[in-house]
Amino acid sequence: MAQDAVNWRDRFPGEVTCVRCLRKRSIEELDRLLWCEECQAAAKRRATIRGWMAGVALAVVLALYIWFGIQPDFSLIPTGWAATILVALYLGARVARELFLGWERLANRRAVEARPPSPDADSGAGPEDGKERRRPRRRD
Ligand SMILES: [Zn+2]
Repeated sequence: MAQDAVNWRDRFPGEVTCVRCLRKRSIEELDRLLWCEECQAAAKRRATIRGWMAGVALAVVLALYIWFGIQPDFSLIPTGWAATILVALYLGARVARELFLGWERLANRRAVEARPPSPDADSGAGPEDGKERRRPRRRD
């Protein structure tokens, strides 16, 4: 009976275009949202950076609240207050990372990771060789 189980991948042909980077991939490399592994990693990396920024912001707000709002006697347990801020930083960063990643998965915007083909693509060195090239920015 197990061989009769329907896999969602069976509905697709062998090669499918990733909705994020628009590159053809084997269906085995894509997840249910048709994101390839590189695009998933890029989204996780971006969410991690944003999460740490949110965690730092939360820790700063908490430190200001403790300093000006609570105004504790820091001579008693200074490591307790420092640990409170560090825990807020870490947990805030982790929770915010999951929220940012969940939002990006939910929004599922198309072709966000897509790059136009580089002008020297005819030399054989395309974006497929693992090294992405970016065009130099114009100065105005
Ligand atoms: Zn992709």
